[in-house]
Amino acid sequence: MSGLFRGRALLREDGLRSGYDVVVIGGGGHGLAIAYYLARNHGVRRVGVFERSYIGAGGSGRNTTVLRANYKTAQTVPFFKASYDLYRTLSQELDFNLLFSKRGLLWLAHSEASLRLQRERALLNQALGVDTVFVEPDEIRKLCPQLDLTGGGSRPVLGAAQHPPGAIVRHDAVVWGYAQGAQRLGVHVHQGVEVTGVTVEHGRCTGVETSQGPVSAGAVVCAVGGWVSTVAAMAGLRLPIVTHPLQAFVTEPVAPVLDRIVASADLLVYVSQSARGELLAGAEIERYSSYSTRSTWTFLSEASSRCIDLFPFMARLRILRQWTGVCDMTPDYSPLMGTTELDRFYLNAGWGTWGFKATPIAGVTMAELVATGRVPPLIEPFRLDRFCDDRAVSERASAGTH
Ligand SMILES: Cc1cc2nc3c(=O)[nH]c(=O)nc-3n(C[C@H](O)[C@H](O)[C@H](O)COP(=O)(O)OP(=O)(O)OC[C@H]3O[C@@H](n4cnc5c(N)ncnc54)[C@H](O)[C@@H]3O)c2cc1C
Repeated sequence: MSGLFRGRALLREDGLRSGYDVVVIGGGGHGLAIAYYLARNHGVRRVGVFERSYIGAGGSGRNTTVLRANYKTAQTVPFFKASYDLYRTLSQELDFNLLFSKRGLLWLAHSEASLRLQRERALLNQALGVDTVFVEPDEIRKLCPQLDLTGGGSRPVLGAAQHPPGAIVRHDAVVWGYAQGAQRLGVHVHQGVEVTGVTVEHGRCTGVETSQGPVSAGAVVCAVGGWVSTVAAMAGLRLPIVTHPLQAFVTEPVAPVLDRIVASADLLVYVSQSARGELLAGAEIERYSSYSTRSTWTFLSEASSRCIDLFPFMARLRILRQWTGVCDMTPDYSPLMGTTELDRFYLNAGWGTWGFKATPIAGVTMAELVATGRVPPLIEPFRLDRFCDDRAVSERASAGTH
């Protein structure tokens, strides 16, 4: 509730129009970025963003804020690199301090299989202009002396892919920056208004039903994160997406102790230190599918134990808080972006555990698609029908839940 009031205080309250050129469903970072770039890059200013709760209530306000471009396919690396490049100057662009902090990311391997994977990652990244290098344990010791290279005595670190650009950025600042930027350009951001239906006339999407009545639209973009299957169903679409919960926790704040992001491919855990001094940790998705954001003791005990295997000093820290978000997981761990079989109904989905870092480039490319009708080459590989013609973009090795 406090978030709702915070949102209302800082954002202009716009009256609901009976129609918009573009309706964006979902006031997460993606929906707001799409609205912002529609107005900024294409002059489409009659845009309405509909958020059923408060902006950033979904994954955009619950993620662990990691930015990186060290993916593992020729399609995803340029896409995430373009997003990272936009992030670097986004504070100036939005006139909003996003606390962008370049840390460097170490992706540890504790087995022969993941050692091979991290070597391949470094080579592919270099070929595509992304700074990732393979490092041996001696080098890792110098880069991160706090790390227990024995992995708690049972999972010795054999090597790592080091990605110097790895960064963190304040997640709710990204949401607020885009929301305010979009409003300055004339976009309407409606909080507390739920989309309850999608209007279809003669095979074409012509608007939405909302908790405050019908709204007509020239185009509708669905950007609702983990809830995409429910909204797509309103448009008669069935998607290859299953929603899973993903949890994270922070410790009490301490003096600066960890200056980089450390992820383990085998222990499935990652740790960074926030600007406030908290040690922030995430792990893998829950195996069960659910829309529940209830946090569990099982997660906390298992993930914290794996953190202590990497960083023994964490055993002395108290847990401050844990939370949960929901993730729209695709079969190949890559996004689903573009047109759908319903004319004028666009999809920006499949952001799973990896979508926060893609917020700016998803905004730019989806806005271009909606405004011009042309599919930007960067997102062509992520089209919905790729599974029909055997063109999956397999990224399981990079999703890594951050
Ligand atoms: C614990 C955790 C850690 C993560 N860590 C990282 C990370 O380090 N790096 C990274 O890149 N990604 C990470 N992610 C993934 C990332 O958070 C998401 O992929 C991203 O935030 C998705 O943004 P979005 O704008 O698409 O969706 P969301 O931020 O989820 O926004 C969707 C919005 O749609 C609204 N909505 C839903 N249904 C309706 C409706 N019917 N009408 C109106 N509004 C509706 C919701 O209320 C919500 O606010 C993490 C996720 C979690 C949960």
